[in-house]
Amino acid sequence: MDGFLPTFIRRKQTPPRSRETAFDQPALPFLSPSRVVIPLQETPQSSYRCLVKARDEVKAGQKIGDRGDPPFQLSVHATISGRVQEVDSHPSPHGYHVASVVIESSGHEDVIEKLSPKPGAEEKMEVLLEAGIPLDYKKLAGNQLDTLLVNGTEFEPTLTVHHQIIWEMASQVVGGLQALMKIFSIPQAVICLEGGEARLIRALEEALKDSKGILLHPVSKSYPPTGELVLIEKVLKKGNGSSSARAMGVEIASLPAVYQAIYQRTPFVERTITVSGSGVPHPRNMKVRVGTPFGEIISQCGGDLENLTQIIMGGALMGISQPTSQAPVTQRTTGILALVSLNLTRGHQSRMYQEGPCVRCAKCVDRCPVSILPNVIGAYCRKNRFAEAIEKGLFVCIDCGLCSYVCPARIPLGEIFKEAKSRGGFRGREENT
Ligand code: SF4
Ligand code: SF4
Repeated sequence: MDGFLPTFIRRKQTPPRSRETAFDQPALPFLSPSRVVIPLQETPQSSYRCLVKARDEVKAGQKIGDRGDPPFQLSVHATISGRVQEVDSHPSPHGYHVASVVIESSGHEDVIEKLSPKPGAEEKMEVLLEAGIPLDYKKLAGNQLDTLLVNGTEFEPTLTVHHQIIWEMASQVVGGLQALMKIFSIPQAVICLEGGEARLIRALEEALKDSKGILLHPVSKSYPPTGELVLIEKVLKKGNGSSSARAMGVEIASLPAVYQAIYQRTPFVERTITVSGSGVPHPRNMKVRVGTPFGEIISQCGGDLENLTQIIMGGALMGISQPTSQAPVTQRTTGILALVSLNLTRGHQSRMYQEGPCVRCAKCVDRCPVSILPNVIGAYCRKNRFAEAIEKGLFVCIDCGLCSYVCPARIPLGEIFKEAKSRGGFRGREENT
């Protein structure tokens, strides 16, 4: 890393080892948490409708609310059977407090209720909305797309979730992709995968045997991160016959969900995630119910919540630090990284939070895959000078976290940008610029 030690070592963390262990074994099911917290909103500003109240009995798969506005309103489902404890504001893993339904488990294994059959709704967008699958429906339904791009690569060193999904569910990945292409009349799709992953390539080739219009595109391991724009630009440049304006990225975990909604009539209530980090004695990939608090999952993997110094949703580079272990898994959660620091200051503060002044080394600038100036933008964000930050390319940033990764001053640039971009009023300004 340009003469710098990787962040984990510089920060005296034990390097997580999940890549070696995680996807050689099947994802471990953990489908009966004691409670779930199911967000009804994406952000505090977004609209929602709640169909249950405290003390109601609900069944896994039962519709309990709606998220967003018509015509692309998503159904929200109970993910375990039990009793509604409360409907209140709770922390979401994206850093907001949002309206959520808390359900206490009835204590027995759940069978997920099927989506109610609607005559003539098969293989239609309505089924996906009813199943609660978060996709960019506005773009999909706009008749402007000719390519769907699926990122099957793992950029984050601590995540193996994309590989696990391909390894275990290649046929559902392909089936879900075909269903999306059919529903939205998109003629072509490209699945990107690291060229060195021979087992996964074989699994996908087998699943793709009878499909038309889906290409497998090998990319190098050092490929820039999961930023959709970067990936689309690079892949389409190689001559797959499309332009980035007519292409859209699809999260790989949503493809088995599409398959299950269309062909098994199951709502999107569980997903695969990677659980790793120095605070987890048994890192691995797990199949969990949406809404399961991070703390319960970490405990299930042998982690001791009392000793953790940091919990991150996602991976080490692009993840979001969590203020509480009670934040729940959402349909977009790829992983949980639980860390312990063995190097505490006298005040028992983790040294990893000790930030120094910028030394103007420009490592962050060299590393940025979208060629912006993270040091300059970070300084503007910290001074609340958002207009200048936007002008310098804040919204061009793809949240890859590489600038934080290489920064010798331990300035959390990635987190600063995420936080700045997520401010509601600020977003409005960006749209007006
Ligand atoms: S500014 Fe940082 S987080 Fe954003 S794209 Fe550049 S390196 Fe990645
Ligand atoms: S922000 Fe960090 S990496 Fe960037 S110039 Fe300053 S010290 Fe170097």
